[in-house]
Amino acid sequence: MLQNGDLVIIQTCNKALLKDPGKGYQEWLLCVFTGSVGINRWRFLIGALKDLDCSLRKLNSRLFVLRGKPEDVFPKLFNEWNVTKLTYEYDTEPYSLNRDEKVTSLAREHEVEVIYKISHTLYNIERIIEENGGKPPLTYKCLQAIVQKLGPPKKPISAPHLENMKDVKTPWSEKSEEKYGIPTLEELGLESTSLGEELFPGGEQEALRRLDEHMKKTAWVCSFEKPKTPPNSLSPSTTVLSPYVTFGCLSARTFWWRLTEVYRGRKHSDPPVSLHGQLLWREFFYTGSVGINNFNKMEGNPVCTQVDWDTNPEYLAAWREARTGFPFIDAIMTQLRQEGWIHHLARHAVACFLTRGDLWISWEEGQKVFEKLLLDGDWALNAGNWQWLSASAFFHQFFRVYSPIAFGKKTDKTGDYIKKYLPVLKKFPPDYIYEPWKAPRSVQQAAGCIVGKDYPHPIVLHEQVSKKNIQRMKEAYAKRSSDCNESPIKEQGVKRKALSVSEMLQKKIRKE
Ligand SMILES: Cc1cc2nc3c(=O)[nH]c(=O)nc-3n(C[C@H](O)[C@H](O)[C@H](O)COP(=O)(O)OP(=O)(O)OC[C@H]3O[C@@H](n4cnc5c(N)ncnc54)[C@H](O)[C@@H]3O)c2cc1C
Repeated sequence: MLQNGDLVIIQTCNKALLKDPGKGYQEWLLCVFTGSVGINRWRFLIGALKDLDCSLRKLNSRLFVLRGKPEDVFPKLFNEWNVTKLTYEYDTEPYSLNRDEKVTSLAREHEVEVIYKISHTLYNIERIIEENGGKPPLTYKCLQAIVQKLGPPKKPISAPHLENMKDVKTPWSEKSEEKYGIPTLEELGLESTSLGEELFPGGEQEALRRLDEHMKKTAWVCSFEKPKTPPNSLSPSTTVLSPYVTFGCLSARTFWWRLTEVYRGRKHSDPPVSLHGQLLWREFFYTGSVGINNFNKMEGNPVCTQVDWDTNPEYLAAWREARTGFPFIDAIMTQLRQEGWIHHLARHAVACFLTRGDLWISWEEGQKVFEKLLLDGDWALNAGNWQWLSASAFFHQFFRVYSPIAFGKKTDKTGDYIKKYLPVLKKFPPDYIYEPWKAPRSVQQAAGCIVGKDYPHPIVLHEQVSKKNIQRMKEAYAKRSSDCNESPIKEQGVKRKALSVSEMLQKKIRKE
């Protein structure tokens, strides 16, 4: 049990609302950092913080939000508040490892005990790597075999009760509100007038409500197969729990065990396509992100195929701003910008289009755009999935290219999804909604939308560029296998002694 004066930090923008670190606590602090975070994600985070503060008030506590650089702020607080203990959730992102190492060493200088817990993932990622002989599994099957050996993930611990907080008093005044209150969008310098409806409000209460709602649909949960869920339904065909898991509003372990309860005694789908399977995909990419150097980059990343991507700011801007002239792609990018969430297969479609499919632009550029616009933006998952979709790592069937026309048609023949997000095309008949440039002038006039004037011409000829790009990809793969003798991928196969979490932390920081 923590004492008065202990400091519990809920740290980073991503894992803001962690439950696991302690059974009781006095104050919760949050360190957020600005950067490549879009306004929708800020709104989500602020909502989540308000919800957390509300829950803490019920426990006679409060959330304290600190402003400033962690390494400047903490030493001051250690003295001012007589801090004796500091706890945080272990976060494997290099930025966070670096920050936590700095704060930990400052805390030690101030004789503050530091405790961290591993709870953002189902398993201790280091254990998975250790079980695999000291290297990250590069296939899902391999990961599955390892976690089978490890057994089911730990059960989540329950939330603190008022009894745990009996002797706790949290001083709070009007001044504290000014100094430690939850920031507003305005304070962060963000213009909120452009924001649309808040479809996915942040916070644990909403996360649990959403989880309950889904878990009640037992037949849906038991028959869930990800590839069969459509990317372009008018309301989401998957759970949209990702922003809540990313921000720590919902523990991956709670999600896992709730699914286990639903599955019990019933016939159900299995990994990789089931919902348990989705959580294991998360684990897979987290493991890669810890065990593979430069995971969010092509250069210096030993598993990533080196591709001679083009630099083309015009194409990149057209993709980002939903001006490619391919309605399916532009509708997805519009949904992403407006709502902050898009279906997994929609992410496939736009990621393939940007990279190996059509525009031949580096996956790192797409990664940046997603990081900014996704509510669920997650360093490890974003980097891992972008490598997959660009066939740079993990997935190697580069000759399988998504068509920006035929793919969407499979699940939405009439183009209702396109009409929702691109109202300029709403009067186009189904025959032309995916390819408005093919519509006769009279049809365009009747639809009130002239291609080239009211909606752009397609930016590329898909049939031609995709063929050329497959060839370029083939060359990159050929080069990769000819370089294989010196390839660091081979080195990765060499067993190394598994490192402890703190050794890994030190190692990562040294590499920064
Ligand atoms: C290019 C690209 C970038 C992506 N970037 C992110 C990202 O930044 N953050 C993120 O959370 N997901 C990312 N994903 C993975 C995936 O698309 C989302 O996790 C999923 O669509 C979220 O919707 P959901 O909660 O309804 O998923 P569900 O299908 O309901 O799955 C349940 C949970 O499993 C996890 N999950 C599902 N699919 C994946 C996957 N492929 N990889 C890892 N975890 C998964 C998520 O935590 C999700 O909430 C990306 C996928 C692609 C193709």
